[in-house]
Amino acid sequence: MSEDRPGFTDTPFLPDSDYRVHDPDRPHPPTVMPAGPVTQPPPGDATVLFDGTKLTGWEAVDGGDPGWTVADGELIVEPGTGDIRTSDRLGDCRLHIEWATPAEPGDAEYPGNSGVFLADRYELQILDCSATTIYADGWVGAIYGQHPPAVDACLPSGAWQSFDIIWRRPRFDGDTLVTPARLTVLHNGLVIQEATEPFGPTTYRGYHDYEPHGPAPLRLQDHEFPVRFRNIWYRPR
Ligand code: MG
Repeated sequence: MSEDRPGFTDTPFLPDSDYRVHDPDRPHPPTVMPAGPVTQPPPGDATVLFDGTKLTGWEAVDGGDPGWTVADGELIVEPGTGDIRTSDRLGDCRLHIEWATPAEPGDAEYPGNSGVFLADRYELQILDCSATTIYADGWVGAIYGQHPPAVDACLPSGAWQSFDIIWRRPRFDGDTLVTPARLTVLHNGLVIQEATEPFGPTTYRGYHDYEPHGPAPLRLQDHEFPVRFRNIWYRPR
């Protein structure tokens, strides 16, 4: 079975699981066609991170100004310029973000890859799953390498989509983890993660152990595809 499916059989097992990181045999999420993205404008007390006009408050992860493009009300990944992140450090919050993968997915194995990193560490995957399949824990809406989404709510290539995220950052007592991070996520209005607790910061072919941190930037991933973003805001909670 695994020969036909992407994934790895030499990666670590996930905690209390029969599945490995990127396990080819882990069931893929069932597809549910959403009615469309949620396009909610920012409420009155929201902090707007991108309003369609400028990249104020964002920086390149490698230092300096972000190399991404702002045009026609959109923030567009400029492939090769690296991830960008906010100068704001987000604590517990409710976050809204809209995104679209390229209308022409091309011939890449995993087209439209990007991601939303909560607290600069925990990736909520963006991928054009209307045009590809991947191991379950790499699906759009996965906590990458750890928790597949409950359903595949992906819209077609090029369509605007939404993530609504309720984020609780992890708590530490000195160097000791007291409570893990926790996310509830709606993708195009459908619940795909519910009080999901990452095992630690996300990475390819594994996962990291928790290390103490407080409120931290929101990071967006440059994974070599011109994924577009708009209407990014959050409310502390
Ligand atoms: Mg990604």
